Amino acid sequence: MPGGAAAPVPDTRPNLIGMDRADMEVALTELGEPKFRAKQLYQWVYNRGVTDFEAMTNMAKPLRTKLAEIFRIERPKITAHQLSDDGTQKWLFRYEDGNEAETVFIPDGERGTLCISSQVGCSLTCKFCHTGTQKLVRNLTAGDIVGQVMAVRDELGEWPSPGEERRLTNVVLMGMGEPLYNTDNVIKALKIMMDGEGISLSKRRITLSTSGVVPEMERVGRETGVLLAISLHAVHDDLRNDIVPINRKYKIKELIQAVKDYPGLSNSSRVTWEYVMLKDVNDSTADARELLRLIKGIPSKINLIPFNAWPGSPYECSDQAQIKNFADVLWKAGYSSPVRTPRGRDILAACGQLKSASERIGKREQMRLEAIRREKEEMVGLSDA
Ligand code: SAH
Ligand code: SF4
Repeated sequence: MPGGAAAPVPDTRPNLIGMDRADMEVALTELGEPKFRAKQLYQWVYNRGVTDFEAMTNMAKPLRTKLAEIFRIERPKITAHQLSDDGTQKWLFRYEDGNEAETVFIPDGERGTLCISSQVGCSLTCKFCHTGTQKLVRNLTAGDIVGQVMAVRDELGEWPSPGEERRLTNVVLMGMGEPLYNTDNVIKALKIMMDGEGISLSKRRITLSTSGVVPEMERVGRETGVLLAISLHAVHDDLRNDIVPINRKYKIKELIQAVKDYPGLSNSSRVTWEYVMLKDVNDSTADARELLRLIKGIPSKINLIPFNAWPGSPYECSDQAQIKNFADVLWKAGYSSPVRTPRGRDILAACGQLKSASERIGKREQMRLEAIRREKEEMVGLSDA
């Protein structure tokens, strides 16, 4: 290119982040290395968190050089970071193809929960969810998913793992996207996170939240054993069809059965029912009683989520008094402290608010959102027509 700057050469070396043990074994066998090298490499990457091949001191120098020529070890890039008054932190991560998604860290006493994304956007259109207004751009890869945990571990200075007094103790898949529409990548990422020689997070400290992709639930439970959360939000099919449209495919009854069949469900590994409190929509005490009836006999926790309004959202959050009435019905039936405290509101880090702006929107924008919604529902086969 005479006179001009040379275009940056894209780094085509495969990223080790996202490769599991088997992938690394294949890669190293191709290089003529014995199997135990793959185990060493895996530990350096996921357990020690190194990003430089030179740090891999149990490997000979020529091998380190060779590995660095062939592979890279790269997290998603931080493009923005915000810290809330309550200690919540939010990062905007940029992935290799330039797409961005957010990850939120919520410290709470001894526990620190990282809320990660599984897709950029979402193909579903839950009416109260801001992500539901955004088109699905793509599934995150296993590397993108694990990379969020690793990048935050870098930020918190928490390698190796497990280490002393880690702040990042729990992971929830409650960011952008429907994890069970990206099951293969999610399972691969979860296995790396749970591996004792990898990131080493216990399966009891990982929760996957789904809007109710019934056919995928058994598999994720069987293959990973992580805790399950269900975005229930309505106790009658007609309302749930409207606000959680996947219900048009998998009705409440089927969803409840799939939860009952979830492998490993027990009193020490209970399902969490998420229920967003929408004023005059789903918040009556009759709804609370129906909720109790639905989940009877299932080892359960209930999480009432005060609705987080976003620009153009068609609902309001239930009044404090009504949330309390609802919670009292549950409390009398033995479910304690079910109301989730909103965190990180000042940095728009709360549920369903990721990547949203703070100003109100006009009629035209509302129509645009409605058109996207219809188009998406047609694509996933959930349209009424
Ligand atoms: N797609 C998955 C996981 C991501 S959403 C799912 O739907 O379960 C994580 C949780 O936040 C879900 O329970 C979702 O219903 C809830 N949520 C979405 N938007 C919200 C909002 N505006 N206010 C409160 N909770 C919301
Ligand atoms: Fe997607 Fe979950 Fe939002 Fe529904 S609530 S639109 S499934 S991210």
